[in-house]
Amino acid sequence: MLPLGGLGEIGKNMTVVEYEDRIVVVDVGLRFPTPEMVGIDLVLPDFSYLRGRVKDIEAIVVTHGHEDHLGALPWVLRELGAADAPPVYGRPLTMAMGRSKLDEHKLREVQLIDLEDGEDVDLGPFTLELIHMTHSIPDASAVALTSEVGTVLVTGDYKFDQTPVDGAPADVSRLAELGREGVLLLCGDSTNVDRPGFSPSESVVGPHLEEVFARCEGRIVVTSFASNIHRVQQVVDAAAALDRKVVLVGRSMRKNVKIGRSLGHIEVPDGMLVGPREIEDFPDERIVIISTGSQGEPLSALRRMAYRDHPQVKLHDGDTVVFSATPIPGNERAVNDTIDRLYHIGCEVITTRDAPIHASGHGFAEELKLMLNLTKPRYVMPFHGDFKRIQLHSRLAEAVGVAKEAIFCAENGDVLELDARGARFGKPERAGMIFVDGVDIGDVADAALRDRRMLSADGIFIVVATISEQDGGSVADPEVIFRGVAFLDEAGQLIDEIKDTVEDSLERAATEGVRDVGHLQQLLHDHLGALIYERLKRRPMVLPVVVEV
Ligand SMILES: [Zn+2]
Ligand SMILES: [Zn+2]
Repeated sequence: MLPLGGLGEIGKNMTVVEYEDRIVVVDVGLRFPTPEMVGIDLVLPDFSYLRGRVKDIEAIVVTHGHEDHLGALPWVLRELGAADAPPVYGRPLTMAMGRSKLDEHKLREVQLIDLEDGEDVDLGPFTLELIHMTHSIPDASAVALTSEVGTVLVTGDYKFDQTPVDGAPADVSRLAELGREGVLLLCGDSTNVDRPGFSPSESVVGPHLEEVFARCEGRIVVTSFASNIHRVQQVVDAAAALDRKVVLVGRSMRKNVKIGRSLGHIEVPDGMLVGPREIEDFPDERIVIISTGSQGEPLSALRRMAYRDHPQVKLHDGDTVVFSATPIPGNERAVNDTIDRLYHIGCEVITTRDAPIHASGHGFAEELKLMLNLTKPRYVMPFHGDFKRIQLHSRLAEAVGVAKEAIFCAENGDVLELDARGARFGKPERAGMIFVDGVDIGDVADAALRDRRMLSADGIFIVVATISEQDGGSVADPEVIFRGVAFLDEAGQLIDEIKDTVEDSLERAATEGVRDVGHLQQLLHDHLGALIYERLKRRPMVLPVVVEV
């Protein structure tokens, strides 16, 4: 049992379950970069452990279609070699979303296999079963992997919603049955362990949305996660009740609604959907726009509307924007920024603070206890949470009677060994982050990140010095180029000083017999860096180029 991601963090879930050298990977998620990771598009779990072991992987199993569980699939398959990639298993919606990602990466040969609930699949020494759970996306499931040693149950993300929008609550009886048969290890979602009680049902959101809509006189823009198909359904229902047309805006919103409709997860009455270009054909009070951008994502439709940069939707005063989502930690600033822009345009903004128009997809503390009590695991390993939540989850397990020694608070890369004698931590494996930068994947060295940080904060100086091949003396006036450096009232004076420093440094180096170009560049870098810091109290990147003639 080896978690490669998702512990000590929220995001990039990926776990290796191994028995007698045969491997099943549960989830292949990604994370979005923090603001310090300048120029990085995506963050993946470091899956070095799997390199060279493609032949040992029986399958990849994905619990549900969220990016933090499915998003790394194309990258992982591409890196492991798509031609002999293992089959990927999941529920139909998860697989449809996976297929659409693989198509974008032209990975068409990968086998994606739909599994029904309760269907058993033999994968080498393992038997795989998916158990239906409720979450903020349809077709979420827990994964049970049974080998000779026992059953490992990975809950995936879940809540125990008793009145889900699609009328299919979590398969509590199967969980209890597994508990009676004996669960060796439970790896449970810790996201909302710090919230007491039970989470509200998704179905309470709809009536509140309708109430909010009823008060609006102009157009309504609702933003939510595009994958929250039941939420989109509730927005559609509220719009229908008030005789408004629905417009879908944002690529992932259109894509997910299309997939959701084709699989019967969402129903839109005929004639209700209107294209973005037809918005102006209807009076304002007849329109609801459903948009991406609930997290303030830079290129999202809502963000572009807020910055008056959306090609089809031009917001104006009288419009109301409804945030049917809460910001994920880290996104608060971008969301606030978007909201402020919307006010600037004259829109009204309604958030979850004004009305209960959002319900979390992750169960609260009592639901986590219920999971523990249903499955009665011998060992517990809290999953899907930062260190604080993992600790809280372990206390909660103790509270319901799991022995302290049976609870393993792990971090990414920790190996939990389970056999007839018991469970213990083994030698840790490599785990960490790999970055995706555009279409390239790899260990973007720390240096590259640092460079980007410097460039974005303080700009760059490029200094070109020309020296004589014979004696190493400076033979031409040094050239100084700078970009993105904030200050420069006295640019002229600083540039003169830079030129003087270059001449001085080269002269000294020549007398000391330093002739190696790399060495000279290093020297110039140090001297100029010191000078520029003195004058500007900033550390722009300094890039000296020494040319010999
Ligand atoms: Zn998740
Ligand atoms: Zn999720």
